[in-house]
Amino acid sequence: MSTGFSLTRTTRPVPEAERAAILAEPGFGRYFTDHMASAVWTAADGWQDRRIRPLEPFTLHPSAAVLHYAQEIFEGLKAYRHADGSVWLFRPEANARRFARSARRLALPELPEEDFLAGVMELVRADEPWVPAAGGEESLYLRPFMFASEAFLGVRPAAEVTYAVIAGPAGPYFPSGVTGVTLWVTTRYTRAARGGTGAAKCGGNYAGSLAAQIEAAEQGCDQVMYLDSEGEGKLEESGTMNLCLVTSDGRLLTPELGTILEGVTRDTILALAPGLGLTPEERTVTLEELRSGAADGTITEVFAAGTAAVVTPITGFKGEGYEFTIGDGSPGEQTMAIRRTVLDLQYGRAEDKHGWLRRV
Ligand code: PMP
Repeated sequence: MSTGFSLTRTTRPVPEAERAAILAEPGFGRYFTDHMASAVWTAADGWQDRRIRPLEPFTLHPSAAVLHYAQEIFEGLKAYRHADGSVWLFRPEANARRFARSARRLALPELPEEDFLAGVMELVRADEPWVPAAGGEESLYLRPFMFASEAFLGVRPAAEVTYAVIAGPAGPYFPSGVTGVTLWVTTRYTRAARGGTGAAKCGGNYAGSLAAQIEAAEQGCDQVMYLDSEGEGKLEESGTMNLCLVTSDGRLLTPELGTILEGVTRDTILALAPGLGLTPEERTVTLEELRSGAADGTITEVFAAGTAAVVTPITGFKGEGYEFTIGDGSPGEQTMAIRRTVLDLQYGRAEDKHGWLRRV
């Protein structure tokens, strides 16, 4: 049973002036708040020691299983400040459920949904001054994660596991206006195979993606577009975002679930699509369909969806021996309308008809 998180405040918070300077230019992933949430699980006693406490390094035995076998999962979500000063989370239950699915796949213990929500909520409350002011696209990024902390070198599910949440302010993803990105369609690397861990949010998936990201950069592209692992030319997703396509007859296509991550933003956009005059369709889309659709104008826009950037216009693709643009090579109208719609909801500028917002 959940017993709630106890709070121990830091006696040495980041001084106010320093925090203000960080919040003026937070970037992403460089600065962290004063506190962290944590809990420990053991096979013998289950979840215990739920705490909000001063942010500090972990002490790990060098044999800790995570360091060797990557038994680890994580999540990513944001807290948003609304114009009236209140702070809100967007669909945190969806992250809690995905975290539980990832845990099952990595043979980690499931954290009860109420503990996931309580830990995140109470950390944001403790670090409330770190939530950037309303008005822009800033937010407080939250990173829940769980790893095998048991000191044991055998390959088996760890009997001791650590859960934690850290937080850090995040600046606007596109500080100088939303621009389109280009994707490198890799045929050398795949991200996930049937029966693999593609649908789980585990660190190993991201370690495996780095070489492909280097390849994309060498090709002058911003990010990677992954195809299926069986060589059938099916579009899967980008390294940290789901893929969506808009057709000239008003459909919003996105690859079906299976080996891809079930993005919260993807799901949000599928639910909002009808209200924007688009018919959502989750189905296989091949590279061939994308190329011919881009050429004959039946695919008018492509974008990527994820928590970090919300919606990123994709204006061009490049692969081994070919290159093509989408539309006229600039961010599409529908793409920008979807982007605005999601942001308006997250920042409380639109009515929350789906009940997706959770007040902290
Ligand atoms: N795919 C991958 C591989 C990701 O890492 C992410 C980011 N979590 C997404 C898609 C988008 O998911 P979400 O909308 O929940 O951020």
